[in-house]
Amino acid sequence: MLKISRENPIYAFSKENQPVAYVDSGTQVEIETYDCFENQITSNDASYQGLDWDKVNPASGPIYVNGAEVGDVLVVTIDKIELDHQGVMSVSPGMGLLGEKIKEFEAKMIPIKDGKAIFNDKIEIPLNPMIGVIGVAPKDEPVSCGTPGSHGGNMDNKMITTGTILYFPVETAGAMFALGDLHAAMGDGEVGVTGIEIAAKVTVTLKVIKGVSLKNPLLENENSVVTIASAATLDEAVKRSVEDMIELLQPKMDMSFNELNMLCSAVGQTEICQVVDPLLTARFVFPKWVLHNYTDRIFA
Ligand code: CA
Ligand code: ZN
Repeated sequence: MLKISRENPIYAFSKENQPVAYVDSGTQVEIETYDCFENQITSNDASYQGLDWDKVNPASGPIYVNGAEVGDVLVVTIDKIELDHQGVMSVSPGMGLLGEKIKEFEAKMIPIKDGKAIFNDKIEIPLNPMIGVIGVAPKDEPVSCGTPGSHGGNMDNKMITTGTILYFPVETAGAMFALGDLHAAMGDGEVGVTGIEIAAKVTVTLKVIKGVSLKNPLLENENSVVTIASAATLDEAVKRSVEDMIELLQPKMDMSFNELNMLCSAVGQTEICQVVDPLLTARFVFPKWVLHNYTDRIFA
């Protein structure tokens, strides 16, 4: 299997980045990642000044997918996530929801043992391994790996895990796919600005589909179809995620806009991905069983 090293990571999704590999549609790759601090924190004594803050949220890649053209969709199947043996969390003044109450930087190493994250001697947290940063190059200006958007990026969506299929709008030739920022566990919101940040190896399969297009990232798992939207406010992100869902469903379900509104209101779940990155991210989760008498595929 093709292996992508974490050396020379990118810090922004950009069509100007140099691809680290060229692959054909359908290729499976194993991608090695640093944690979001580029593995700079190795003990609870780490200091704010001791860190190079230009080296945060590194993503490994980008991978050029042969044949991917603007207007196509890149399909990314998350086949496997292998976490390192130790994670890290931190808080910093001014960062996270309660940042104004944080007086000083603090880091905390979190050992991973027997499928649990050891928070302290009384709390062992079940793992929910997930990918924080994942996406393709945007069509215009580079976007920092710390910011989410229609290209993906730092969506911090805990549904992005093993078995998930993601769909991204291809906005530049080759799509220029990259990922990083794994979490051993994270709650919706990521209120303190870190999950249990951890280095990892992620195996994905990359595939191009033609003749369909998307505006924003879309997610599919066994039970749900999920639109993901990032915006300056949560209200706007939630609204856009519902709009995108109705737009996706309309051609498949032969229903009026009014009826689809009712249906989404009856069975869809509005959920928060994260509220701490420069844009906020929401998802709209639509159960697949509702589609059974209409279609068994997200894309024809
Ligand atoms: Ca993140
Ligand atoms: Zn993270």
